Amino acid sequence: MKSASDSKNTKVECRVSLCPFCKIVAGEAKAEIIYEGASSLAFLDINPINFGHALVVSKEHFSDFSELPDDVLFDIVASLKIVSRAIIDSVHPSGFNIFNNNGLAAGQSVFHFHFHVAPRYDGDGLKIRPQLKVYESPEQMAEYANMIRGKIEVNDKSGERK
Ligand SMILES: [Zn+2]
Repeated sequence: MKSASDSKNTKVECRVSLCPFCKIVAGEAKAEIIYEGASSLAFLDINPINFGHALVVSKEHFSDFSELPDDVLFDIVASLKIVSRAIIDSVHPSGFNIFNNNGLAAGQSVFHFHFHVAPRYDGDGLKIRPQLKVYESPEQMAEYANMIRGKIEVNDKSGERK
């Protein structure tokens, strides 16, 4: 007889089997792979902001940044540095952005964790125009800081949730 956790695992496996980045990691989908780390893989984005725009993904399926175990995160950050330097030295952009979207509201389109490394040029057409908010008072700002600090105190030193 199947337990509730069995059916949950089946659902996760089903979702992973449809994941385009898991398919690239498994070699089941084509990609221009540029670097492989112990827990990370880097390949070119098929819809680049500018040519040479790369993605650095975890080899294992995690849906977003908050799910990454430390060892995977450290390997991804090391890969980001290697890939960024290689893009700078080969593509010679005027600048570059490293960014990561988590959740639909933040613009995440593939729900397998990834960092973007995007070469940038003056006037390249990418416009980020945030509508910046202003805290109503120092007290309101302190309220937000206290909420966040409270969760940092609850979690352990590596940020694992309790
Ligand atoms: Zn995946």
